Amino acid sequence: MSLKGKTAVITGSNSGIGLGIARELARAGADVVLNSFTDRDEDHRLAEEISDETGTRARYIKADMSKGDECRDLIARAGACDILVNNAGVQHVAPIDQFPQDKWDAIIAINLNSAFHTTAAALPMMRKAGWGRVVNVASAHGLTASPYKAAYVTAKHGIVGMTKTVALETAEEPITANAICPGYVLTPLVEAQIPDQMKTHGMDRDTVVREVILARQPSKQFATVEQMGGVAVFLCSEAAAQITGTTISVDGGWTAL
Ligand code: NAD
Repeated sequence: MSLKGKTAVITGSNSGIGLGIARELARAGADVVLNSFTDRDEDHRLAEEISDETGTRARYIKADMSKGDECRDLIARAGACDILVNNAGVQHVAPIDQFPQDKWDAIIAINLNSAFHTTAAALPMMRKAGWGRVVNVASAHGLTASPYKAAYVTAKHGIVGMTKTVALETAEEPITANAICPGYVLTPLVEAQIPDQMKTHGMDRDTVVREVILARQPSKQFATVEQMGGVAVFLCSEAAAQITGTTISVDGGWTAL
């Protein structure tokens, strides 16, 4: 299938799942806008690499997804937004009675509120274009909980709820809204949790990955960023035109348990 002529904005896409989704959307023909809160040469180089590889237009736009006005400004500066992928996300792990308030606020702002602002800004563009796709990167933690991840689980359940609402508000239009719910994907966000877990459990890396990180992922394998990209491309296809307001788990069986 070809997404030629479509513009995709992927929040939090200079790394991990967002970058993987941007690459696959560009390989399917979409022009892509990469984003994060930094403005380094390497951020812009990522966009150049995607352009060189796929022949599509790829740009990097700096915008901090913890700030509502910058979220809306990202969409305005993109100039078009046929496909919106709300992917930016951060994590912090602590018991709720010790959860730092600034971490709570940042997780709710980046993982949840940003999607409200970008969606509000992008829907009028989709309506004008007569076609649109909202793809929210939620998590298995949008459907189930784990201890010590109160803010993350709250934000991810929230974005699943927002996905359903957007789907109902656009149900009679050629616009869909869905959430991808990954299990564990080996990205910097997960990589950063491994050393602490090794210390806490007194285990080596391989044992921590298998026994702790992937404990709830029955396949005992990480999902990949390419697989997330493939699902995003599918959600943009004609075959998925009647799939709206739902979640697609890519979690090696986690939510079947
Ligand atoms: P990552 O750390 O590689 O990517 C996070 C991205 O968000 C980065 O590009 C980062 O720059 C960006 N970001 C962070 N704060 C930002 C801000 N204030 N403004 C703009 N961008 C910001 O992690 P990832 O694993 O690729 O995570 C991407 C998404 O996937 C997140 O929403 C995460 O919750 C979700 N997810 C990840 C996993 C996993 O196992 N890796 C599982 C389920 C869901």
